[in-house]
Amino acid sequence: MADVEGYIKDLKDTIKHRDPNQPEFQEAAFTVLDSLKPVLAKHPEYIKANILGSLVEPERAFQFRVPWQADDGSFKVNRGFRVQFNSAIGPYKGGLRLHPSVNLSIVKFLGFEQIFKNSLTGLPIGGGKGGSDFDPKGKSDAEIMRFCQSFMTELQKHIGPDLDVPAGDIGVGGREIGFLYGQYKRLNGSQNGILTGKGLEYGGSLARTEATGYGLIYYLNALIKGQNDSLKGKTVKISGSGNVAIYALKKATEEGAKVVTVSDSNGYVYDPNGIDLATVQQIKEVERGRIKEYAEKISTAKYSEGSVWDLDIDYDIALPCATQNEIDGDEAKLIVKDGVKYVAEGANMPSTTEAIAAYKANKVIYGPAKAANAGGVAVSALEMSQNSERLSWSFDDVDTRLKGIMENIYEMSDAADKEYGLDKDYQAGANIAGFEKVAKAMLAQGL
Ligand code: GLU
Repeated sequence: MADVEGYIKDLKDTIKHRDPNQPEFQEAAFTVLDSLKPVLAKHPEYIKANILGSLVEPERAFQFRVPWQADDGSFKVNRGFRVQFNSAIGPYKGGLRLHPSVNLSIVKFLGFEQIFKNSLTGLPIGGGKGGSDFDPKGKSDAEIMRFCQSFMTELQKHIGPDLDVPAGDIGVGGREIGFLYGQYKRLNGSQNGILTGKGLEYGGSLARTEATGYGLIYYLNALIKGQNDSLKGKTVKISGSGNVAIYALKKATEEGAKVVTVSDSNGYVYDPNGIDLATVQQIKEVERGRIKEYAEKISTAKYSEGSVWDLDIDYDIALPCATQNEIDGDEAKLIVKDGVKYVAEGANMPSTTEAIAAYKANKVIYGPAKAANAGGVAVSALEMSQNSERLSWSFDDVDTRLKGIMENIYEMSDAADKEYGLDKDYQAGANIAGFEKVAKAMLAQGL
């Protein structure tokens, strides 16, 4: 183990030296490095081949200028990114995020996580991520279109159905994928394997919209069942009100749980009667409004500013579905105090390192993002399969496969947890299970 400790320390020092201004990437990479220590102790060949040294360095990273024109005639410039992190098991796969917080650190953390997440799906996809610091909030459809066209004018040079297949993430939904696809096609001709999350009319997959939220609940169900417990009758807090939150709310409610909160970046609503799905969908999907309006439409609900994790109520399950680092150490202590038994992450890295330590110290069963939210990218990979076959599968067919994939992710994480005697550490279990396939592929392919 001494060798292992020294090796991991050297790797962390290299990352800190190379990327001193990338806190999100460091956080993600260090967590994974720490949880792989027992694997390295068992497999010295991974140290010998310096597999982790390769794994923490992206194969390629692009940064580019995205000029576009606003409706008032002014010229704007944003910064675009695509990080092609690892292709050991398949073409780079991962979303595009449009949010003012996007920078190289965020894109690298997301791309790094994607390697393990994609491996856990059992499908042949490598890890990548991209995005821009463009803020879609308050922009007109025409502005979004011009931005997407400009973004794709550069991105199209680097992607391909067997090379790198982007999709949506925060700020990129069906509308944006449509504009991106239209521009790709204008420049290169029709090739629908180039993006996933497409509209059903032009090569999209049924159940892709629902996939991340439904997948989260399928994973949660497996996790809870693994503890001889059940989701039925449980009280749930969800943060966020985007695509992941909405379909997690829908599936959790169908499964007999009561979801009492949803939120956006301004505040949250608490509805002790259970959040009404149709009202949330009307506000977010049709009107593109703010979650505050929920309390104006539903009399039992109360709107408050601030974080949903600070609301002091008794509940059983926390499903953070908003964004990275939304739960810090103090909020995790509140989660523990409120009697929460399970945390499963719909967003990417919503819990800080301190928050995760608090869950573990208090025996809260914790399902990490790379396992719990893998349903979106899993169905993206199924969309790629359908595009290659030039066929479309039924909703039930895709949904059944999604459920099987999510159950398998829990089982693989549980098996790794047991193999290494980790005492229900499903985070380390997911890291290990995701890593082993990638590591074997990297070893097999040589340096
Ligand atoms: N953005 C999603 C994720 O974080 C989906 C990516 C994809 O479908 O390629 O996994």
